Amino acid sequence: MREEQWQAIVRCDRAYDGQFVYAVRTTGVFCRPSCRSRTPKRSHVLVFPTAAAALAAQFRPCKRCRPQAEQLPDDDLVRRTVQYLDAHFSEPLTLEIIADAVHMSPYHLHRTFKRVMQVTPATYVRYKRISEAQRWLRESEISMVELAERLGFGNGGYFSTVFQKVVGMSPTTYRAIAREGVSLDKDLR
Ligand SMILES: [Zn+2]
Repeated sequence: MREEQWQAIVRCDRAYDGQFVYAVRTTGVFCRPSCRSRTPKRSHVLVFPTAAAALAAQFRPCKRCRPQAEQLPDDDLVRRTVQYLDAHFSEPLTLEIIADAVHMSPYHLHRTFKRVMQVTPATYVRYKRISEAQRWLRESEISMVELAERLGFGNGGYFSTVFQKVVGMSPTTYRAIAREGVSLDKDLR
C-alpha cells in the first residue's frame, strides 16, 4: 500500500473511489476508500486494484459502501474467463491455455480482461491461489512443498515469496498465528 492510498483511506476520500479498494484482514471485509466505517489499523489493511481482485481473495464486500456494485464484469468474454479461472486456478496455467479454453486469441483476452478487471489473468489467478493457500494453511497439516505443488506454484520457495508479497507475512507465520489463535493485532504491531 502506498502512503497516498493510506491517506485516502484515513480521509475517506471519494476521489480515490474506483482506483482501488481496501480489505481488512481481521474482518474479512473490503471497502471503497470513501467508506465511513471505522478506520482500520494500517497493518491490517490490504489494497486491491479492483473489487474483483478482493473478491477473488475471498474478502466480502462491505454492506455500507457496496464496493462491488459498479465493478462486476458485464463483458461476456471476461465473465467466461473468470468462471474458467475459478474452476482451474490450481492447474498449471498459461495465457495460451486460458485463451484456448475461452476461444480467444491470447492478445485479445489479455487486453480485454485487463481493461474490465484492471488486473491481468495471471494476477487474478495469483490471488485465487493465495486465498486457497490461506484456507489450507488454517485448516490442514499439508506441508509447504505439497501446498505449492497442489496450487500450481511449482516450488515452495516461489510460493513463499508470492505469499509474503500478497499477505504480508510468510506462510509459516500465517499458519502459526491461525493455529495458536494469536490475535493478528498483537502479532503485527
Ligand atoms: Zn465499507
